[in-house]
Amino acid sequence: MELTNLDKILVGESKFRKTQVEKAIYHDFTHDWDKVKELPKELRSKLNKHCSLDINATLFSSKDNLTNKALIVLKDNNAVETVLMRHSGGRNTLCVSCMIGCPMNCAFCATGVLGLTRELTTDEIIVQAIYFARLLKKEKQRINSVVFMGMGEPLLNYENVMAAIRLLQSPNGFNIGARHISISTCGILDGIKKISNEDLPLNLAISLHGSNDEVRRSLMPIAKGYTIAKLMQAVDEYIKKTNRKVMFEYLLISGVNDKNEHALELSKLIKNKLTFVNLIRYNPTGKFTPSSTKQMKKFKDILKNNGIPVTTRYRFGLDINGACGQLASIKK
Ligand code: SAH
Repeated sequence: MELTNLDKILVGESKFRKTQVEKAIYHDFTHDWDKVKELPKELRSKLNKHCSLDINATLFSSKDNLTNKALIVLKDNNAVETVLMRHSGGRNTLCVSCMIGCPMNCAFCATGVLGLTRELTTDEIIVQAIYFARLLKKEKQRINSVVFMGMGEPLLNYENVMAAIRLLQSPNGFNIGARHISISTCGILDGIKKISNEDLPLNLAISLHGSNDEVRRSLMPIAKGYTIAKLMQAVDEYIKKTNRKVMFEYLLISGVNDKNEHALELSKLIKNKLTFVNLIRYNPTGKFTPSSTKQMKKFKDILKNNGIPVTTRYRFGLDINGACGQLASIKK
C-alpha cells in the first residue's frame, strides 16, 4: 500500500472529497479505487497510479484458526508481523507492531534480540489493521479492539502511534472506541505522562515482569535506568490524572520471577492501586523455562488472597509463533 502520495494527490480537492477518500480506505476498506464509484473517474485513475491499495502479505493460521498472523512486506522490503485473535462470540482483537525489531532488548522476548531496525510510520501501522479489516469484512466481522503489543515499544514511536490511534478510533476511520485500544509499554516514564494528557480514554498496560529491581533488571535493561519506585510513581500520577485502571503484565518464568515470595512482593507493591495484574505464561523463545501450571495457580492465588485483581492471559497462536514475545518477522 502506498499512501504517502495521498496528500499531494488531494491538493485542491474539497474537504468532502477528502473525507470520501479517507472513508474508502479506513472505513470501507476498499482494495480497488475503481470500486469507489462516488469519486470522479479522473481522480480514481490518479489514485490508482499513485496510491496503490495493494498489500503484500502472507497469512498464517493456527490449527484452531483462532489466531491469524500476517507477515506484511513493506516498501523497503522490511517485514512486519501482526496477529489477529478471534475470541468466542465473534469478538476480534488485533495485536499491532509499531517498530521493525525493538531497541529494548528484554531477555525473554524474541523481538528484543533482533535489536531495532527502524520505527514504523503511521501508514505502516495502519496497514496492519487494514489488512485484517479487509479479511474480516469478507466474513461480515470487524476488528473490535486493538492492542499495541506486537513488535516494538509504542511510547518510543509516540507521534506515529498516536496518529494511527486517531485513525483507529475515528468514526470516519475504523470507528474502534478508544476504550478498546491499549498501549503496552516496558515503562517509558515520560511517555506514560504524555498519554495521561491525551484526550482519548486509552488503556495503558505496563510490562512489569519483576516484583523488585533486581529481578526486573535481570530481565529488562530499561529497569537499569528506571527503578520500580519511579515507575509506580508515574503510574500513580497517570491514574490520578485519568482515573483509568492500569494493567500490569507479568510473565511467569520458572525459578526467575514466579516464586511465592515474588507474588507476595508484587501484592504489596500494587495494593490499593486502581490496577490489575495480567499473568502471562512465558512463551518459549529459547532462553528460559515457563512456570508450571501448578506454580502459576499458586502465584495467582497469592495475589487473589491479598486482594489483587488478577487475570490470566490466554495463549493465542503458539503454533504459528504468533504468541507474545515470539514475533521476529522472519520472511519464510
Ligand atoms: N514493548 C511493549 C509492547 C510489546 S510486548 C512492552 O514491553 O510492553 C507485549 C507483551 O508481551 C509485553 O508484556 C511483553 O513483555 C510480553 N512478552 C514478551 N516476550 C514474551 C514471551 N516470551 N512470553 C510471554 N510474553 C512475552
